[in-house]
Amino acid sequence: MENKLTKIRRTFAAQLTEKYKLKLIIPNNDASDSIFEGFINEMFNQLHKKRTKQDVELLKESNRNSPLFIQRKQLQKDIEDFQILNKRQDAHAVQQIIERVERRAMLNRKYDNREVKSISQLNTQCQSTIIPTVKMFTLSCSYRTLCSELIERFDWPSELFASEYDRCFCKTCYPLTMPNVYQSNIENKYPIIIPRNWMKFGLKIDEVQAKIHQIWDKWATSYHGTLPNAALSMIKHRQICLPGDKLLDGTHLTIRPGHIQDQKAFFTSPTVRYAAQNHYATPLEFTSQRDKYVYTAKIVLRCRQMPDSFTIQGETLNNSRINGADFCDIIPDEQIEWKTDKRGTVIFDGLCVRLTPVYNQTFHNTIYQSHANQTNVHN
Ligand SMILES: [Zn+2]
Repeated sequence: MENKLTKIRRTFAAQLTEKYKLKLIIPNNDASDSIFEGFINEMFNQLHKKRTKQDVELLKESNRNSPLFIQRKQLQKDIEDFQILNKRQDAHAVQQIIERVERRAMLNRKYDNREVKSISQLNTQCQSTIIPTVKMFTLSCSYRTLCSELIERFDWPSELFASEYDRCFCKTCYPLTMPNVYQSNIENKYPIIIPRNWMKFGLKIDEVQAKIHQIWDKWATSYHGTLPNAALSMIKHRQICLPGDKLLDGTHLTIRPGHIQDQKAFFTSPTVRYAAQNHYATPLEFTSQRDKYVYTAKIVLRCRQMPDSFTIQGETLNNSRINGADFCDIIPDEQIEWKTDKRGTVIFDGLCVRLTPVYNQTFHNTIYQSHANQTNVHN
């Protein structure tokens, strides 16, 4: 346990360094204990300075829902979590932090590996001390860049996004050797199925809601395919909209053709492949200004759903199977669709984007090569 805690503390310190873009070099894995302690002390100092700076800025801010307030709360929580790890008194709280750190590390593994490598190269030039540096490591694959271009074109308010939770699941960023599914923690009975070949942009969620419902620990992960305008509308409403609702813009939401009439429900799926069918995630044409190619774009909201608040059922769209095969290796077709009419039980924590090149072009770029060969599963 002692070894594990030491490792988790180091990993957490590295994650916070990255999250808050601290001007620090993360030591490589085989660095000595004293190097790590120096790194952790400096990391903690910089977090405190950041908090002090935010407090000064907040004196001018009256809106308690402003992004700065939310950032400040997040920073405070991270500082407190780190202190809990340092003190090691509250076993339950320590366990919860360990799970969070491990979960994040798992998603970041590829990212971390690359990071550690580049840092270890740098560290050979400055062996024994942790030297604050202005050099930051920004990693971005070409697929992520393309997807970002699409999102920029939507021109949504930047306050909606939590870019620290952006994750690319292209074959480069999330290779085939990584798991297709994982269990978030023992308290969560629903598996998380990786949206292979999708880029997920993190969305901000309400901290109070997250805390009182223990959303990160207990709520299921699901996907809801839709159109950009409908996605933005739901994100702005901060909840799902059901047929019959009068929306912020005054319009009434109607049941989309192809669905059972009079059924006022919201549909999701544990697998993005089902959620992204054309009926739900209507394909859009997107021409990139960067590479001048034409892509088919799809939008899927990543949701968190309260456990046991939805009905699990088979697919309801006829003729929607892909080549007669199951949608997913993990979730049987009879359980592929989740249905709910309870508004407060779904929140959106990510906007997933998928770009597929339009095939009648000659492609020479890496996007085509990396993303065209898809398996029938998990994407
Ligand atoms: Zn990528």
